[in-house]
Amino acid sequence: MKQPIQVERPVPIIDAARCTDCGLCVRVCSTQALMLKDGLAVVANSETCAYTGDCERICPEHAISRLFQIISSPNEETK
Ligand code: SF4
Repeated sequence: MKQPIQVERPVPIIDAARCTDCGLCVRVCSTQALMLKDGLAVVANSETCAYTGDCERICPEHAISRLFQIISSPNEETK
């Protein structure tokens, strides 16, 4: 019998080498998923991350990236 595949929620990846601790991503995050810790932005509340990409777009250092793109199919929306 096949076992269900458990997929963790995707969260943005933060490049510690690029982050300057400016806090813009923390301020733009509408779900308070990010916080500053020890001079670095971190995903502190992964369960609230809505994966909107707002943090990725606002980061002036291009330190945040999302590895996945979530696309909803028009056919799926009408089911
Ligand atoms: S916006 Fe970019 S540089 Fe600023 S705290 Fe967030 S990850 Fe770091």
